[in-house]
Amino acid sequence: MNRMDYTGSMWHFPPKPEEPLQGDCCGMGCRPCVFDRYEQEVHLWERECERIRRGNVATENPGDTNVSLVQIPTLSECEYRYFSISSIKQESCDTYVLRFQLPDGKCLGLHTGQHIIMRVIGDGRVITRQYTPVSPLHALGYFDLLIKIYPDGRMSRHVKALKTGDKVELRGPCGRFSYSPNKWQRLVLLAAGTGIAPMIQVIRQVIINERDDTRLLLVYTCKRYEDLLLKSQLEECSAYWNVTILYILTQDSPERVRSLKRYGDNIHHGRLDYHLLSQVLGNISPDNYVLICGTTSFEKDMISYLVDSGISSHNYHKF
Ligand SMILES: Cc1cc2nc3c(=O)[nH]c(=O)nc-3n(C[C@H](O)[C@H](O)[C@H](O)COP(=O)(O)OP(=O)(O)OC[C@H]3O[C@@H](n4cnc5c(N)ncnc54)[C@H](O)[C@@H]3O)c2cc1C
Repeated sequence: MNRMDYTGSMWHFPPKPEEPLQGDCCGMGCRPCVFDRYEQEVHLWERECERIRRGNVATENPGDTNVSLVQIPTLSECEYRYFSISSIKQESCDTYVLRFQLPDGKCLGLHTGQHIIMRVIGDGRVITRQYTPVSPLHALGYFDLLIKIYPDGRMSRHVKALKTGDKVELRGPCGRFSYSPNKWQRLVLLAAGTGIAPMIQVIRQVIINERDDTRLLLVYTCKRYEDLLLKSQLEECSAYWNVTILYILTQDSPERVRSLKRYGDNIHHGRLDYHLLSQVLGNISPDNYVLICGTTSFEKDMISYLVDSGISSHNYHKF
C-alpha cells in the first residue's frame, strides 16, 4: 500500500502507531486480528495527519499531539474522541471501575458484547487497547470500564495514573458478536478475570427480556474469592430462574473462603480443566452456544477442550 510520509517536521504530527510483532497475534483466528487493528489505526493516524497538514486544526501548541482530536463526547468508530472521567472506584486489589461522562440523556450506543478502543500517546509512542463497558448498555449520561492494572502493562501504567477529571481518547463501537433472544436454548459463558465484562452484558440482555427463555450458565474463574469482579451484580443476576453461576477459585482454600463466601455462592476449588469442564457442560446439544473471554492462555485452553469435546467452531465465540 502506498502511504503518505507524515514524518516531516514542518507540522507536528502525532506518532505513527507501532506495528505489532508476529508474537502479538494469539493465533486463534480473531476477527479483527491485531494486524487488522493496526491497519485501522494507521488509517486513522493518516487522516489525523492529513487534517493537521491541511490546517483544519489549531496548531498554536505544537507540543500537544492531542490538538487534532475532536472534543465532542459521543463515540465514533472512525476517529478518537475525548471522554472525561467522572469517578474511579477500586473493585479489587488490581482492578478499577472508571466512570466516564456522556452528555445528559445520551447512551454510549454499543450492542451486547461490543467493546471500545482506548488510545494513549506518550513518550512519542501510541498504545491502543480494547475495553468492554460493564455499565448497562442503555445507561444514560455515563458508562463504566472495568480495567485490570498489570504491574508491567504498558496501558496499565497510564490507566494507573488517571484521575477524576482527566480526559481519555476512545473510539468504537468494535466487535462482531450479535445476540438474538431465544436463538440458543442454552448459553455457556466461560470467563476469567476481567473476561467477565462482556458476559455481564450478555446476562443483562437476557434477563431484562421476559420473553427470552435462554438458559445461562456462567463459569467464572479467578485466583481468589476477592478477585471475583462485579460480584454483587452477579448475585443479583443469579436470582433469575434461568441464570446459574459457578465460581472457580484456582488458588484459594475452602477453609479461607468459608468465612468470606455469601449465601448461595456455588464455588469449586481447583483448575477449570477438560475433566471439570466436561462435567459442568454435561451434554452439549447443537442448540447450545459457548462464549469465551479471559486471558490468552485461558481462551486457548477452553477452545482446545471444546474442540476435544467435539464442539464445532459454529458453537462457540471468543470475544
Ligand atoms: C475484545 C477485548 C476486550 C477487552 N476488555 C477488557 C476489559 O474490559 N477490561 C480489561 O481490563 N481488559 C480488557 N481487555 C484486555 C486489554 O485490552 C489489555 O490487553 C489489558 O488491559 C493489558 O494491557 P496493558 O497494556 O496494560 O498490558 P500489556 O503491556 O499488554 O501486558 C499485559 C500482560 O501480558 C504480559 N505480556 C505482555 N507482553 C508479553 C509477551 N510478549 N509475552 C508474555 N507476556 C507478555 C505482561 O507482562 C502483562 O502481564 C480486552 C481485550 C480484548 C481483546
